[in-house]
Amino acid sequence: MSRLAVIGAGWAGLSAALCLKKRGHAVHVYEAARTPGGRARRVASSPLSCDLDNGQHILLGAYTATLQQMQALGLNPETLFHRERLALMSADGTFCLRAGHLPAPLHLLAGMLRMHGLRWSERLGLIRVLSRLQRQRWRTTPGLTVGKWLVQERQNSRVIRMFWQPLCLAALNTPLEEACAQLFANVLRDSVGGSARHCDILIPTVDLSRIWPERAIAMLQDETWPSTQSAAPHPHGLEASHLPDRTAVCLGQAVRTLQSRPDRVLVNGQPYDGAILATNTPSAHRLLAQLAPAPGSSQFLTALSAFEFIPIATLTLRLERPWGQPHAMQMLWDDPGRLQFGQWLFDRSALLPQPASPTEGPAHAQASHLIHVVISDAGNMAASNADQLTAAIITQLQEQAGRHKPMPAVTGHHLIVEKRATFKAAPGMWRPGNQTPWPSIWVAGDWTDTGYPGVLEGAVRSGQRAAALAAG
Ligand SMILES: Cc1cc2nc3c(=O)[nH]c(=O)nc-3n(C[C@H](O)[C@H](O)[C@H](O)COP(=O)(O)OP(=O)(O)OC[C@H]3O[C@@H](n4cnc5c(N)ncnc54)[C@H](O)[C@@H]3O)c2cc1C
Repeated sequence: MSRLAVIGAGWAGLSAALCLKKRGHAVHVYEAARTPGGRARRVASSPLSCDLDNGQHILLGAYTATLQQMQALGLNPETLFHRERLALMSADGTFCLRAGHLPAPLHLLAGMLRMHGLRWSERLGLIRVLSRLQRQRWRTTPGLTVGKWLVQERQNSRVIRMFWQPLCLAALNTPLEEACAQLFANVLRDSVGGSARHCDILIPTVDLSRIWPERAIAMLQDETWPSTQSAAPHPHGLEASHLPDRTAVCLGQAVRTLQSRPDRVLVNGQPYDGAILATNTPSAHRLLAQLAPAPGSSQFLTALSAFEFIPIATLTLRLERPWGQPHAMQMLWDDPGRLQFGQWLFDRSALLPQPASPTEGPAHAQASHLIHVVISDAGNMAASNADQLTAAIITQLQEQAGRHKPMPAVTGHHLIVEKRATFKAAPGMWRPGNQTPWPSIWVAGDWTDTGYPGVLEGAVRSGQRAAALAAG
């Protein structure tokens, strides 16, 4: 058994810690925040006097590593998510693509044929693009942006505006003209190119920290979990240090110093046999820059500082009563000229299951009054005044989603803008693997070379890979 430190209790760090503990290692998790989950965590909203997520998230049925990990923790994803067949539906009813109840690829073909909002020729064009991509084994020309790829594929501006742009922004949080076509193709491969269930959209019904990070912390602290531990010897054959051999989670404890000794890694001065840095890139850079240079280390640090970030904003509105939209997730048409930046509408009253017990009743009632409006690539709205923005988005909702069922009065609002929501998923970026130039130090996070854009599944997989390397 060895003692390893994991820095960061986001979805990557917690996945790494679980894998290490399962393999019989003692893990110390350091997390700067008091709530686990990283960017995908619960936050307290003072304007609304309730808990919210740091931003509305969705998962895909294709997020197999995440879903399997939840099951291994004894959680049932079917009760923690609202699962829907792939559906892109605009709130104003002018566009609708909904996958059929058929095995792949017929589910999508049926959806495309029944779709409305696009002409026949445009729908056939979409089918042609996707089948060509599949024939090319989901490979695009290196260095190509999604925008250029769509021009090559002769997609017209209407199809781009109604179909490709919302999809690309939701998947990569990067505008078409800058987004990496290959990363987009990878997302399409694993979703529309997979089984019908892989295309499903999973919307959390509980907050993101409760989805699994809090259970992960409980399991890490539970000395009886997992029941059969196989104490693997450390690959570098290091001696025991003075720390207790128990796994521990330190929330609210930022790591400020990292040092490397021939037989130890010191994290905040505490000795470990190795460390996994599962932080964002600026924080990883700050810590790794404290170490003595190693072969390749200056290129590694340069690559970390080259990451650029794109914000995502989530506006939550509390309504006088539940709205009862027909679908939990609907598209909005944005009009930045009128400050109408909303791209997706989530209505919790169309999402929440009935309360399992009477004690959940009040919380359920409160949550069912909430709607969330998501704005990806939210840099453009940064200059706008928050109150004007909120008023403009309320008008946007009334115009687009209130035609058949008028929107109830708004009784409160909270705008959360996460400035470093995801890295800019541009072509040609160098994303490091989990190894670093320094011995016994690994990295994990959605920004590592996962093959995915900055998403939860990438974070989970990277944590698992880093742990496999650290465990030897
Ligand atoms: C608003 C928003 C919407 C999103 N929507 C989606 C979506 O719909 N679907 C999807 O799949 N993905 C979505 N994402 C992306 C997703 O949240 C991330 O990909 C994922 O959370 C990244 O996890 P991570 O563990 O790699 O990093 P993080 O979540 O950033 O975790 C890093 C952790 O390290 C901690 N840390 C940093 N420095 C230190 C230090 N020195 N000491 C101790 N701790 C430290 C941080 O506090 C943090 O908890 C969204 C992100 C945002 C912000």
